[in-house]
Amino acid sequence: MEIEGKTVLVTGAARGIGRAIAEAFAREGANVAAADLGSLTVNPGADWHYALSPESELAKTAREISERGGACMAFEVDVSERASCQNLVSEAVEAFGGLDILVNNAGIIKLGQLADFAEAEWDRIFAVNVKGAFLMAQATIPRMEKNGGVIINIASNAGKRGSAFNSAYCASKFALIGLTQSMAAELAASAIRVNAICPGNVFTPMQFDYLVKHRLQQYPGQSFEAAFDAFVEETAPLGRKQAPAEIAEAALYMARADSVTGASLSVDGGSGIGLS
Ligand code: NAD
Repeated sequence: MEIEGKTVLVTGAARGIGRAIAEAFAREGANVAAADLGSLTVNPGADWHYALSPESELAKTAREISERGGACMAFEVDVSERASCQNLVSEAVEAFGGLDILVNNAGIIKLGQLADFAEAEWDRIFAVNVKGAFLMAQATIPRMEKNGGVIINIASNAGKRGSAFNSAYCASKFALIGLTQSMAAELAASAIRVNAICPGNVFTPMQFDYLVKHRLQQYPGQSFEAAFDAFVEETAPLGRKQAPAEIAEAALYMARADSVTGASLSVDGGSGIGLS
């Protein structure tokens, strides 16, 4: 699919990987609906284990993309709520006149021992990471059926290999890859391609506000970024973290790749296969 002039909706777009994807599509001449929790994060940080994006961050992202000449508008959504997803898609279609590409990027994580992992936290991770993609796809598919479309799910290398103390997140990302394959098979007849991207180690707030603090205590006295870099150097074959822009590049590829559907592309420096 040609990207210029098309409309792309990116969830979790206020920061991190989602923001980079929104920026990349805007640079390529797409209309970008940048969606995130915004004011729905009533009390940032209090409702999850690290602060999710407030209204100001979403507005800043849309403003900065627009200031650089991109066509970008901010929209609020909680992807775990059906009505919120339906409203978002209606508003984006009204604003831009259609919808061609959906990027299901919003996601959350919580580490913990399986034995006492809270059921409500398991449910919330699945509600955002898996049901969110399902609800957004259901809202979007009717808008794509006439001209075809592309759905890109941001999964993880945690969707291809399990790891200790990460059961809920890993299971949710495995599920997202399964959903991707099933949707790809079912929607091909409607000319809708569905693919997943599996990032490895990207230094976003999910990492520096939460994961590094809770997982990398073996690097005492180092800054979060230095600890993260040391961890990646020791565990990933290429020894490097991924820039958000590299994940965005993969999203542009998935939008353009007319022969690719049902794929899950690792962009992870080899961390998914490990060192041995
Ligand atoms: P991030 O926490 O920096 O950004 C996630 C965004 O999603 C935030 O802006 C947050 O407000 C938004 N969000 C959370 N819940 C939402 C909801 N219910 N509705 C709408 N928006 C919601 O994280 P990130 O690292 O940029 O992660 C983006 C995606 O990439 C996630 O799906 C994550 O699982 C995946 N991923 C990240 C890494 C990494 O190393 N950072 C690796 C593999 C996969």
